[in-house]
Amino acid sequence: MTRELVILGSTGSIGVQALEIVEANPELFSVLAISAAGSSPDLLIAQAKKFKVKVVGVAKNADLIRQALPGVEVVDGPHASREVAAISCDVVLNGITGSIGLAPTIAALEADNRVALANKESLVAGGDLVIARAKENQLLPVDSEHSAIWQALIGEKKSEISKLILTASGGPFRDRPDLSDVTVQEALAHPTWVMGPVVTINSATLMNKGLEIIEAHYLFGIPYSQIEAVIHPQSVVHSMVEFVDGSTIAQASPPNMKGPISLALSYPHRVPAATKAIDWTQSHTWNFAPIDTDRFPAVSLAREVGSIGGGLPAVFNAANEVAVQAFVEGKLKFTEIVKTVSQVVDSLRGSVSGPLRDLADVSAIEEDARRTAHELLKKVG
Ligand code: MG
Repeated sequence: MTRELVILGSTGSIGVQALEIVEANPELFSVLAISAAGSSPDLLIAQAKKFKVKVVGVAKNADLIRQALPGVEVVDGPHASREVAAISCDVVLNGITGSIGLAPTIAALEADNRVALANKESLVAGGDLVIARAKENQLLPVDSEHSAIWQALIGEKKSEISKLILTASGGPFRDRPDLSDVTVQEALAHPTWVMGPVVTINSATLMNKGLEIIEAHYLFGIPYSQIEAVIHPQSVVHSMVEFVDGSTIAQASPPNMKGPISLALSYPHRVPAATKAIDWTQSHTWNFAPIDTDRFPAVSLAREVGSIGGGLPAVFNAANEVAVQAFVEGKLKFTEIVKTVSQVVDSLRGSVSGPLRDLADVSAIEEDARRTAHELLKKVG
């Protein structure tokens, strides 16, 4: 029996790699539906034909796609991914970037689908809403760090965890003393991982690690005081769990998202040869070092924001999405990305600390955060 998949964000980095896994393992997986924003219509059409999908969800260019795919149901409009996520299947892979992935995550969980979650913003912006709807083993991590922690925790007791330790490559500026003159091109070139532009900039500021600390808190139910991050430039040890007896379990493999994607798609089974293993006939050196919090303030800010909770993590993420966009457009200096996020968090922290009730709550909070961020950017510009 093959597993029927629904892939959200199919034309993005995670979606493309997931489809390569399907192509390499036709006896394990088939694709029922795919969705994407629609800015790469040719790729979306080619994917739909190749995998003979029954449904395509798209936010724009719907007419073009409908014309190219006779016999395929095309769901269009701003809620297309949410509708596609609710189609009954074995696993929904959420490979959408940004907090627009939250509503599809919730729709998939409510439809009783298993969710392979690559969209960390679902948990950052709406962690309480997502976790309240997820049954045991219904929400499986795709983020490499969280996949590592998940694997290290199989068969372990939560009460015996002393720390979760997320590893961070440190990004392209790990050893650069002055970050004030970083250019967009430099920030878009990541040393170990090939990813979409937003995630790449977030890796350069270590905002990505901040978001992942919040993601880990919700996924594993561990307090922020027990979640740490450490620089590991080789990106081979994907994260670790330290237990009360002083033992640490780490998960290691050469950096390749196909490992965590395939495990989330086929759990509890592993996909043979999903990635190359470490070559132990060669010498390896693995380094670990503490994060320089002065140059990379995003991690401590995330911990603070996460501890306050309520709507503040949603503010943190939405403000960052605006600031990253401004940086990419050349309107903001690299070091001002996290500074802007911090200022937005400060100005809204008093008003959003109550518990999140629903998606409308999250949307309103994000709108506030975006507006506040844009106002600050106007002053900078
Ligand atoms: Mg990650």
